Amino acid sequence: MTRGQRQLVVWVAAFAGIGLGALGIARWLSGTGNLARDMRERTLIDAETGTVFEHMPVPAGAPLPLEHPETGRTTLYPAERCHWNADGTAKLEPTYVLLNSYVGSDEPTACPDCGRDVVAHNPLPPDALMMDAARRDGG
Ligand SMILES: [Zn+2]
Repeated sequence: MTRGQRQLVVWVAAFAGIGLGALGIARWLSGTGNLARDMRERTLIDAETGTVFEHMPVPAGAPLPLEHPETGRTTLYPAERCHWNADGTAKLEPTYVLLNSYVGSDEPTACPDCGRDVVAHNPLPPDALMMDAARRDGG
């Protein structure tokens, strides 16, 4: 091997090393990108105390119930939102409700505030009522 050939080998090895390093960084970045995408903010409710945790980052596909950060017990369930008032009007700030079905009961879940049935992916009141609520509560 001539001196020139040896130098060439060193340069090729160096570039290959840089390339692999860049690939690793790109993989790592895209990996953290996926992680960020797979985290969803959810509102959770503690089955034992009724405490509501708003905007908790939850990994997609995480098994439910989730662990309570203070007690370490798996008592956190997704909270359903009820935007009804007892008088039939709507409100912007929801009442958070734990569904009976999440804790092994077949009983329908009644909202503790307005008494209406609350279901999974609980629907909003009609748009007109939400608009009234926005005018009343928001302005
Ligand atoms: Zn309600």
